[in-house]
Amino acid sequence: MNFYQNTITNLNKAAQTMKLDAETLAVLSHPQKTLMVSLPVRMDDGTLRVFEAYRVQHSELRGPFKGGIRYYPTVDLDEVKALATEMTFKCSVVGIPYGGGKGGVCCNPKEMSPGELERLTRRYVQAIYQIIGPRHDIPAPDVYTNSQIMAWFMDEYSRLVNEYQPGVVTGKPIEVGGSLGRDTATAQGGAYVLESYMAKKGLEVANTKVVVQGFGNAGRNAALILHKMGYTVVGLSDSKGGVYHADGIDPNEAAEHKDKKGVLEGLAKTTHCTNEQLIEKECDVLVLAAMENQVNKTNAKHIKAKIILELANGPTSAEADDYLFKKGVEVIPDILANAGGVTVSYFEWLQNREAYYWTLDEVQTKLNRVMLEALERVLHFQEKHHTSMREGAYMSAFDRLEKAMKLRGSGANLLCKVYK
Ligand code: GLU
Repeated sequence: MNFYQNTITNLNKAAQTMKLDAETLAVLSHPQKTLMVSLPVRMDDGTLRVFEAYRVQHSELRGPFKGGIRYYPTVDLDEVKALATEMTFKCSVVGIPYGGGKGGVCCNPKEMSPGELERLTRRYVQAIYQIIGPRHDIPAPDVYTNSQIMAWFMDEYSRLVNEYQPGVVTGKPIEVGGSLGRDTATAQGGAYVLESYMAKKGLEVANTKVVVQGFGNAGRNAALILHKMGYTVVGLSDSKGGVYHADGIDPNEAAEHKDKKGVLEGLAKTTHCTNEQLIEKECDVLVLAAMENQVNKTNAKHIKAKIILELANGPTSAEADDYLFKKGVEVIPDILANAGGVTVSYFEWLQNREAYYWTLDEVQTKLNRVMLEALERVLHFQEKHHTSMREGAYMSAFDRLEKAMKLRGSGANLLCKVYK
């Protein structure tokens, strides 16, 4: 089962449990629009390379399409379709007025110079700018894209439409219309949900051992935030492998080591392991903050954690999900756990519209409220139907989407711009 089939399985399962109207399920099982483009880019050595790229607009039932852009060597259409679908449900889970979309460029930014990345980004904007816009489709960062790429993106779009349009993209640097707290928002939102969930279950933070897979924006900040909250971080990993120490690792030291050496391997007092071994280590909470399909039917039975917090999109396969649910492992699903990122993107977009900027405290107080309300709603659906938290989250999202579709009428899903 690939990532897209996995996502559709999650949709079908929740729809069946809640006896969702068949028309709503049919509409939401297909992206509204899919754009594939090729991007010729001049490389530093004078050669021309052509990159394949996508923008998938899944649904605008609840507002403009919203979702990040991934730059990754293995990006393909099914992956972007899965991620776009997840965005529709994620925005609905947290009740922010957006639909879902996603973009992807098939490239390896780790092997590209800043100049090459800038030319690629501008070329991508030139190829898709007619179907995006601050009121229509708003991209953001995702795997291997960052605030600098968003700044180039905004600049190129503003140039093409001949007016300053900071709200066309979120995750920008503060100096060009970004929001305070956006860089840590995915991890912070997940930490708020975990904290509240643990308190509800009467679980103590002290002595809770955490393993974090992934050391990009989400994983790195999650390790730092959870450590500060009093959790004991015992394992970390990046794309090259993991480091583990049963008595605890200081993520501040790990971040310093990573910045200096480029890898986590070699961090003082830790033993090295593979990414596969790391997620099977002894711990209470496993934070998945890397890529999709990390916990699957092969390794699910070796997971020791009692709680999984999904900061990545799609890190647990549907088969593993069934197994973990039966075993009593609580999976706090991606569309809830990592929705802090898009929530602060929404705050950034609001600030861009008003040209009035909030304090970090305002951002975090509002983020906390959104995340906790979303968790309550998910738990309500989960308890009502005796399901996993993932099904609870999909039901919570479907409920809002179904109502929006009924209110707008059956033509609602066709309200999109025509492009050539
Ligand atoms: N790429 C992030 C996600 O998957 C953020 C999306 C956004 O801010 O629009 O949720």
